[in-house]
Amino acid sequence: MAWRSSGTSNSELIENLWRNEMIKHPDAKSAFLKVDRAHYAPRSPYEDCPQPIGHHATISAPHMHASAVEHLLPFITPSEERPGPRVLDIGSGSGYLTHVLAELVGEQGKVVGVEHISELKELGERNMKKSKEGRELIEKGRVRFRVGDGRRGWIDDEDAEGKGKGWDAIHVGAAAVKVHEELLEQLASPGRMFIPVEDEGEGQGWGQHIWCVDKDEKGEVRKRKLFGVRYVPLTDAPKA
Ligand code: SAH
Repeated sequence: MAWRSSGTSNSELIENLWRNEMIKHPDAKSAFLKVDRAHYAPRSPYEDCPQPIGHHATISAPHMHASAVEHLLPFITPSEERPGPRVLDIGSGSGYLTHVLAELVGEQGKVVGVEHISELKELGERNMKKSKEGRELIEKGRVRFRVGDGRRGWIDDEDAEGKGKGWDAIHVGAAAVKVHEELLEQLASPGRMFIPVEDEGEGQGWGQHIWCVDKDEKGEVRKRKLFGVRYVPLTDAPKA
C-alpha cells in the first residue's frame, strides 16, 4: 500500500492515490491536486513515502496525508452547521498538510499549524509561500503557523470569532504517548481528532496506532483504534 501510489508528477501521484482508494472523496482529491508536494518535500516529492526535512522530522507519506484528510473530512469542510471549520495541525513540519487543510476549510475556515521547532515553523511558512495560492492563504489569515508545544494544543487568542469555541478537527502529525487531556478539552463538541499514539506497554518508537477520537454534541468521547503506523515522536523541543 505504501509505495503503490508513487507518480512522476503531482497529478499522477494524486490520481494513483485515488485509484488505490487512499483518496476517496472528490473534495479531498481536488484539494490535494491544488498543492504541489514538490514545494514541501526536498527530494522525490511524488514518491509515496516519507522524506526527511531536517531536525529529525519527516514529511509524512502521501498515503498517510490522504488517510488523515479522509478521516477528518466531515469536520474540515464547510457545512450548514459548521460554515467555517477551525482546524489545528500539530507538528506542521513541512507545512504540506497544513496547506491542504487550508484548501478544504473554505473562505470562513481557519487552520493553525503548531511546531515546537521554530526553524520548522518557518520552513512550513516558507514552503507555503512558494505558490501564489499558498501566499494568499497566509495573507488572508486563513492559515497561521505558530511555535508551541503541541501536546498542550493551542489556545487561539488571535481569532476573536473562534475564541473559546474549540477545534472542529485536530490533526496530530507525531506520535503521542497518550491522547493528551488538553487536546481532548480543546476539541469542539462535536469534533474529531486524528492522532498517532504509542501502543501501551511499549517504549517510544515501537508500536503505534492511529486513533480516531470523536467528541459528540454532548461532550462524550469515543476512541477508535484504526491501524498501525510509524511516526516520529511528539516530544520536548530540543535544547538550543
Ligand atoms: N505533518 C508534518 C509532519 C512532520 S513530522 C508533515 O507531513 O510535514 C512531525 C513533526 O512534529 C516534526 O516537525 C516535529 O518537529 C513536530 N513535533 C514533535 N513534537 C512536537 C511537539 N511537542 N509540539 C509540536 N510539534 C512537535
